[in-house]
Amino acid sequence: MRKSYLMTPGPTPVPPQVLLSQAKPIIHHRTPEYTKIFVEVLEGLQYIFETKNDIILFSSSGTGAMESSVVNLFSAGDKVIVTSNGKFGDRFVQLGETYGLEVIKHEYKWHQVVKPDDIKKSLDENPDVKGVFVTQSETSTGVLNDVKAIGEIVKATNAVLVVDSITGIGAVETKTDEWNLDIVMTGSQKGLMLPPGLAAVSVSEKAWKLAEKSTLPKFYFSWAKAKKALEKKQNPFTPAVSLIVGLRESLKMMREEGLENIIKRHAQLADAVRAGVTAIGLELFAPSEGRGNAVTAVKVPEGVDGKAIPRIMSSKYGVTIAGGQEHLAGKIFRLGHLGYYDKFDITTALSALEMTLQELGYQFEKGVSLKAAEKVLSS
Ligand SMILES: *Cc1c(COP(=O)(O)O)cnc(C)c1O
Repeated sequence: MRKSYLMTPGPTPVPPQVLLSQAKPIIHHRTPEYTKIFVEVLEGLQYIFETKNDIILFSSSGTGAMESSVVNLFSAGDKVIVTSNGKFGDRFVQLGETYGLEVIKHEYKWHQVVKPDDIKKSLDENPDVKGVFVTQSETSTGVLNDVKAIGEIVKATNAVLVVDSITGIGAVETKTDEWNLDIVMTGSQKGLMLPPGLAAVSVSEKAWKLAEKSTLPKFYFSWAKAKKALEKKQNPFTPAVSLIVGLRESLKMMREEGLENIIKRHAQLADAVRAGVTAIGLELFAPSEGRGNAVTAVKVPEGVDGKAIPRIMSSKYGVTIAGGQEHLAGKIFRLGHLGYYDKFDITTALSALEMTLQELGYQFEKGVSLKAAEKVLSS
């Protein structure tokens, strides 16, 4: 017998009470029973997003919410600024180009943080820019971009700020209204502790005004259709009922813990992982000025087969972590700690990492990562 531990930054583990809530007989979505659940879910999401804005749900993975922000806000030829310092920023570039937007790319190295001043300069030079895209928490690298500072800059212009907070929500502060984040999105299989299949996006008043002028084609991902249904506390099409039922349960858990405590827990777990891996001589990939709480990317040490690390951790110890993506394949590995995690998930993962690195010939003093992590976790 061997247990499995899912330590990836999406999908993330689903709590037993959430799983059980989804095992109940299916209900119909045009009933008062469903409406009651849906209303609770919308209120719970507003609490987690720290917003009074409308929240729209799609039965899709997170990318559906990303695509919806492009097709609902813009028209072909519209000028937008897209920042990218990783795989998910690149996805916004691809989406913008796919739909014929004029994309002003602000591309950074993957270990760098997006510089708000660059956006300010670009907006000054291009007053006709209609939107700015930022990935708050770059899951491919663990880098955290300062969407608060960017919100302050974009607020003063006619452009709307689109924030991919898919691994930000529920892990780091994301004050949608206070920080002037016009569009904020997340996916179910991340901090919301659900199976994959739902995406949520919040839309500000400023964004709704821009959306009225958008002429890009849209049907399933139409925000206008969703808004019309939302007025009757309904969905335009058959929603993913079981996931919505599960979401009510996970949001209930999140309310009970409290948003501030959730973020504190994530910060502590992230600190413990970082203390652990640096104690055995490994280096973090994300720079100290921009590290999120959802995932820790670690550089593979010289002389170690990087691709073997996730492979052995999974096959031998049942701990599934993520490798590096694109040009970072084999060069970094990523430990997820987003959602349903506590202290002992961290020590388990570090223990499996130590045993794996030992097998791969990396030299270090056994147990030191656990010692360092325990120091953080017991404080
Ligand atoms: C997971 C994730 C997405 C969406 O990916 P899907 O596979 O479509 O759910 C987008 N952006 C970030 C930062 C993510 O972590």
